[in-house]
Amino acid sequence: MRGDLVALGPGLHRLTAHNPGIMTGQGTQSYFIGHQRITLVDPGPDLPDQIPRIRQALDELGACLESIMLTHTHLDHSPAAATLQDMMSVPVLGCPPTDLLRQDTTTHITRILTDGEVLTTECGPLRVIATPGHVGNHLSFYLEERGDVLTGDHVIAGSTVVIIPPSGHMGDYMASLQRLLDTQAHRMLPGHGDPLVPAAPVLEWTLAHRRQRELKVKQVLHGFPGDVAELTPRVYDDVPAQLHPVAQFSLLAHLLWLQEQGLAQHDAQGIWILT
Ligand SMILES: [Zn+2]
Repeated sequence: MRGDLVALGPGLHRLTAHNPGIMTGQGTQSYFIGHQRITLVDPGPDLPDQIPRIRQALDELGACLESIMLTHTHLDHSPAAATLQDMMSVPVLGCPPTDLLRQDTTTHITRILTDGEVLTTECGPLRVIATPGHVGNHLSFYLEERGDVLTGDHVIAGSTVVIIPPSGHMGDYMASLQRLLDTQAHRMLPGHGDPLVPAAPVLEWTLAHRRQRELKVKQVLHGFPGDVAELTPRVYDDVPAQLHPVAQFSLLAHLLWLQEQGLAQHDAQGIWILT
């Protein structure tokens, strides 16, 4: 078990959960912020070895757990918080989910974080940045003096993220990307995968990629009105078919965002057309 922690800088470490998969990459990343009093961001999934591994990591650091912060409450990010909360009586800070799709309902959030508030950590001030889009209750955490921003599932390494309506929203997602860009953070520490550095080109690429996908949605709709299942293989013909069931969520988010902008609509049968 020793050696599971990866150092990312003074007082900053990560632990990768044993939940690799198509949606989780090499596994969910938990981040340990601090030297003696740890702020733990995203304690991870409810796996039998997750709590022992977190306790082992704290022992290796010679530190105690002071608080838990959640980027969001998907099942691969937050359920371990419930056990740690009972075991160590630590506060859990984050935002509760606004829907129940693949959401953790076991963790009790003891304090709701608000956009812009600044918390104190042993690695300096940590600013809460609301980054809705992937889901509505998503937060990113910016260690301002380090130039590091913890991005949860807002930006991940190795793939684009899924936008999951109804709480996920493509317009919000784009605006949240711009908010992160505006921080001028140097490095992004994602919920899946390795650090992304420098951050700005990755954010700019992601924004451009989403705009390109929106254009593709419009081009496909122009020649082929259809429902979400029919449109998915055409809009995502550059993506392996095994990912199409997941891509349907993001396609729906694109269509709903076009509808909000008055650019598309659907009939009672769910057939989408350009307006
Ligand atoms: Zn997620």
